[in-house]
Amino acid sequence: MRVDVLTIFPAYLDALELSLVGKARTAGLLDVRVHDLRDWAHDRHRTVDDTPAGGGAGMVMRPDVWGAALSDVLTEGATLVVPTPSGPTFTQRTAEDWATREHLVFACGRYEGIDARVAEHHRARGVRVEEASIGDYVLNGGEVATLVMVEAVARLVPGVLGNAESVVEESHSAEGLLEYPVYTRPVEWEGLAIPDVLMSGHHGKVARWRRDQALARTAERRPDMIAALDPTRLDKRDRATLGDLGWWVHPDGVRPAGE
Ligand code: SAM
Repeated sequence: MRVDVLTIFPAYLDALELSLVGKARTAGLLDVRVHDLRDWAHDRHRTVDDTPAGGGAGMVMRPDVWGAALSDVLTEGATLVVPTPSGPTFTQRTAEDWATREHLVFACGRYEGIDARVAEHHRARGVRVEEASIGDYVLNGGEVATLVMVEAVARLVPGVLGNAESVVEESHSAEGLLEYPVYTRPVEWEGLAIPDVLMSGHHGKVARWRRDQALARTAERRPDMIAALDPTRLDKRDRATLGDLGWWVHPDGVRPAGE
């Protein structure tokens, strides 16, 4: 997969040289290229922004500078990602979708954001443009959001994680549950012991315990995710566990008992 990032702060993206993403780059699984947007500015001050049309606070990033940069970086079939707090929320489903794409180009906004015509123009030209927010808060720029999205996507690219199994049971995987709690040695720490079942060596019991814990944790922390479960994917034991947790499984959905 190829990933290009356009930013006025290329050093922010140095973190993509570390850890699993860095290793994936060395292994040739990911081709990450970070560009300084100012290289496409036309004046000697390398200006990329101007005052907002209609007045108001702050500055807006110029469409002509972005247009020049994107026409050099976008390839046929590439996806243009524009991080913005006003976009749809980036989720694990988004990461799974983008992990199947050949080329992602991230346009990191600063100030009040990028002139709206940049997304409009590229959409009109048939480019797949994805505006995406990483949550309901406002950052100073798109670089941190890009780091979040690139890491979430890159770990789903085949070969990037050593153990592909580890993404299957994770929180927000296709199972639609939060992950069960995890433990490691020492068996006893600060008066707290690892649950006996995990030391039993009985794979079936461990798997059931983990599933029950995932259901209980999700019911407590994210009832919205329990309500979104697909009843056809819940077995008899899941239904019993959910019943104990105060949820009824109906043919058409999962709802709090009594509803
Ligand atoms: N004026 C914009 C608004 O109210 O929607 C906020 C601009 S913000 C200060 C500057 C840049 O940070 C945005 O263009 C975007 O690239 C990035 N950004 C800020 N918050 C973000 C979020 N929650 N998700 C993704 N990108 C974000």
